[in-house]
Amino acid sequence: MNLVLMGLPGAGKGTQAEKIIAEYNIPQISTGDMFRQAIANKTSLGLKAKSYMDEGELVPDEVTNGIVKERLAESDTKDGFLLDGFPRTLDQAKALDDMLQDLDKKLDAVIEIQVPEEVLVDRLSGRFICRNCGATYHKIFNPPKVEGTCDRCGGHDFYQRDDDKPETVRNRIKVNVKNSEPILTHYDKKGLLRSIDGNREIDEVFTEIQQILAK
Ligand code: ADP
Ligand code: AMP
Repeated sequence: MNLVLMGLPGAGKGTQAEKIIAEYNIPQISTGDMFRQAIANKTSLGLKAKSYMDEGELVPDEVTNGIVKERLAESDTKDGFLLDGFPRTLDQAKALDDMLQDLDKKLDAVIEIQVPEEVLVDRLSGRFICRNCGATYHKIFNPPKVEGTCDRCGGHDFYQRDDDKPETVRNRIKVNVKNSEPILTHYDKKGLLRSIDGNREIDEVFTEIQQILAK
């Protein structure tokens, strides 16, 4: 199954992606995670991406398209993949069409998680992540079952993302609102778009995703 997960920053893409990849056994391809990894490893890609990410701006398309193209060519995507956070511009969506055509693959669905903008700032400012396994939590909306211990790996070391501070969050939302409309139209015209209400309990959102994917 070849899927794209869309939604503004904080909509719950990463949270739902964790569940989708566990259930359908496909790899998650998160451009944001790939950039953060590159920054941590101090690679030239990380160096290119960092200044944009710090400002909440998008990394240029040619850089982003390049890493996705390489990643989609890897063998673990042969039975499917879940793109999370890509495409984020219409040019990226068109580049993805070309990449998939070259690889003789097709998208099965584009799932858009809709959440009102005013909810996103609260979600992002309370987000924290397990440093060991990357599981995502929220201080109030989705805390670990045992305080201070990751449900998934038992780790005790968590961090908050630098770009989750309110000033950067507001710009990230603005940038993504501006760019997402033409992408949604692009996929709607192809009959691939499924928009769902993400302003509900995490499990309710996942149930709806499962229903869509069962079809
Ligand atoms: P994205 O990947 O779209 O930026 P995340 O999955 O990281 O978003 O979710 C952002 C924050 O909101 C996290 O702290 C997460 O725990 C929380 N969250 C995710 N889904 C929901 C939901 N349905 N209701 C409440 N909080 C949620
Ligand atoms: P995310 O982890 O998806 O919230 O992305 C974090 C940051 O990485 C974004 O604010 C951008 O700076 C950068 N980024 C992630 N995905 C993309 C993309 N598809 N295009 C451009 N920049 C991206």
